[in-house]
Amino acid sequence: MAGKIGVYFDQQNIGGGLDAEALAQQVSQKWGDLTPVVKVVPVLAEAVDEITADIEGSALDGVLLCGSSPRAEAGLYRFPVQVEHVNLREQCVQAYRNPDKSPVDVSCAPELLTGMARDYVNMGVVKLQKSQVPDSAAVAGVARIMVLGGGWTGLAAAAEAAATGYEVVLVEKSDRLGGAANNIPMASPLASPWEEKQPSPLAGRISQVEGDSRITVHLNSRLEKLEGQPGEFTATVATPSGPQTCAVGAVVLATGWTPLDQKFLAPMGLGQNPAVVDAATFGKMLVAGQVSARRIAFVLDTTLAEDAARKAAAGAAESAEAASPAAGSGEEGEEKAFVKENLESIRHLAYSNAVNSVGMLRLANTVCEKTDDACQAFILYKDMTVPGILERFYKKMQDRLGVMMTKADVTAVREAGGHMVVECKNTLLGMDFDLEVDLVVLPTGLVPTTAKDVTVNFDYRQGPDFPDLELFDGFADSNYICFPYETRRTGVYAAGCVRQPLTMDACEEDARGAVLKAVQCIEAASRGMAVHPRSGDLSYPVFNFVRCTQCKRCTEECPFGALDDDEKGTPRPNPARCRRCGTCFGACPERVISFANYNIDQIGSMIREVQVPKDFKKDGPRVLILACENDAYPALDMAGERNRSWNPYCRIIPVRCLGSVNAIWVSDAMSKGFDGVMMLGCKYGDDYQCHFVKGSEICSRRKENIAETLNRLGVEAERVEQFEVAIDEYDKVPGMIDAFVDRIMAMGPNPFKGM
Ligand code: SF4
Ligand code: SF4
Repeated sequence: MAGKIGVYFDQQNIGGGLDAEALAQQVSQKWGDLTPVVKVVPVLAEAVDEITADIEGSALDGVLLCGSSPRAEAGLYRFPVQVEHVNLREQCVQAYRNPDKSPVDVSCAPELLTGMARDYVNMGVVKLQKSQVPDSAAVAGVARIMVLGGGWTGLAAAAEAAATGYEVVLVEKSDRLGGAANNIPMASPLASPWEEKQPSPLAGRISQVEGDSRITVHLNSRLEKLEGQPGEFTATVATPSGPQTCAVGAVVLATGWTPLDQKFLAPMGLGQNPAVVDAATFGKMLVAGQVSARRIAFVLDTTLAEDAARKAAAGAAESAEAASPAAGSGEEGEEKAFVKENLESIRHLAYSNAVNSVGMLRLANTVCEKTDDACQAFILYKDMTVPGILERFYKKMQDRLGVMMTKADVTAVREAGGHMVVECKNTLLGMDFDLEVDLVVLPTGLVPTTAKDVTVNFDYRQGPDFPDLELFDGFADSNYICFPYETRRTGVYAAGCVRQPLTMDACEEDARGAVLKAVQCIEAASRGMAVHPRSGDLSYPVFNFVRCTQCKRCTEECPFGALDDDEKGTPRPNPARCRRCGTCFGACPERVISFANYNIDQIGSMIREVQVPKDFKKDGPRVLILACENDAYPALDMAGERNRSWNPYCRIIPVRCLGSVNAIWVSDAMSKGFDGVMMLGCKYGDDYQCHFVKGSEICSRRKENIAETLNRLGVEAERVEQFEVAIDEYDKVPGMIDAFVDRIMAMGPNPFKGM
């Protein structure tokens, strides 16, 4: 708890809009001994030495910097005491708009900006006053990485991790290393100039891993149990010689993919005619020397089968609606499951299009080569998706003897006269044609192993598997947009096709990325820091167990499984698994969870620090905005930077995540006399962007309970609203705020105002 705070006003950044001297005077008068140093400095960035001297000279234990957003130049201000920023530039001066067109009497409008700044400064002082330096929650930081899966990605990860000096334990379930790459004798380009296929480097990579004394390989083995927390996991591996336990700091999940069950491709002959195979099967045939066909169609356009599956789905939905049967029962249920599976398969195949596009080029090239160019390969595509620099390989293949490729709508695949006929329309050749071939190769969908199996076997309260995998179509990666490799279990990083269908070169790059995350995680855990997304955060949730009622809400709602519990239901925290989102303290009805520098009392005190005028008609309403610091808060900053102003009756408090919003803050605001509360958080649902996966979704569920409580108290539930804001919606967010404030103004004052 800061007891001696230095307050500094940045004249350069706010002087044009605010009377910094008057604000400083207000701070001294109001806070007295708590703020022994209050200064207006010409340029804050040039006052670092002065502040450092004040910290020593006046024994300050907190510094409050009033100027630009904490997101701007924060790196400049690293002091040996707690530091807080008051955002007077972007979200006050730059965002201010004199609301003289407002329907309320705004005769005091010129004071609104000063009042807003005064509130923010006072909120900053109390925030610092209620903040403590977190204790250390450092763990051992075992310098050993477990790699699950000995395929191409797993081998690359093991080699990379060993090269960084870490010990590696590689666990492979089969009796040989290499995985699916064993069926790729000739690889697509893996290095510059990215034009030529190359002999697969798999054998060399296997020798490298097997010959590295830092890498222990377990074949015919699987991870039976992973317990503990990042930096000090205990892994139990079932090996042919019995279970073996070892300490590991982090895990790279590289268990790869399994082929999609592609029943829906039956209309194109798959599973019906031996002359129609998928790419994975064709690869194996090629390796085994079983390809005798001389005219081969590689078909990337499966619209024909997809349309049939979609038509069946629509038909099933119609008949279900007509009959209104109980969902999921009997034959009808089976049909629905079949249709659902087909639609999922279509999606998986679409995700795999880049891998199939490059794969078809590679297979066509290889088969021509293996037959001394006695073979003709026809590549028929609707979308040829060649990622990045592999475009060069595609261009090279366009000129390759024996390979013909064209965009085409494949309208039928049928057998005629002992051959297969592929009917092609709308081709780039300017005509429709029927292609007679010996073999048709269709694409293979890559399904992550996590969709089928429990791969890690966590000994966690929330169960052995990654949660909510359905949300991600079975892929283990939990945030493609901002944090690739992350899973919903801290310390376990996904790489390769278990994360996303990827080509071999991308898998190798992925392995490096995941290893880097694993190393960061071990290093951060050994320093007691969060690894992501709040990198470097030393705080962690602390529980007052005396008042815990064992309701289990925190242990159930933690998005990352950081909390175990005992037989009575008392939470058992694992700080190194924790992402510091605060969802647990948002959930806790007893409010017994807190962070040293972010807690219920602190935000509640900030809310109470706002001066809410009693005369709604004369002085306007007050609206509290709880803004997620990940997307909404930066969007507000960017809006301010662009002088996109918003209604000055609002007061903004950043929160770690909307999941951390505790209902008591809303009660605090309403009893203080605020007329409305806006919660600005990330998008959720299928297209979610929440940095903590489902904090904003959890908040929306809690909001329903808040609405019920407000209704019971006779307060309109519409006074509290949640809005979804993406980081790039800076143009939109001021309009959202203005519309909400207008709504509140139309509703009139909070009935509790002034009570
Ligand atoms: S802060 Fe977030 S990750 Fe940590 S225990 Fe609470 S809910 Fe879980
Ligand atoms: S939510 Fe609060 S009261 Fe409930 S188990 Fe967790 S700490 Fe205890």
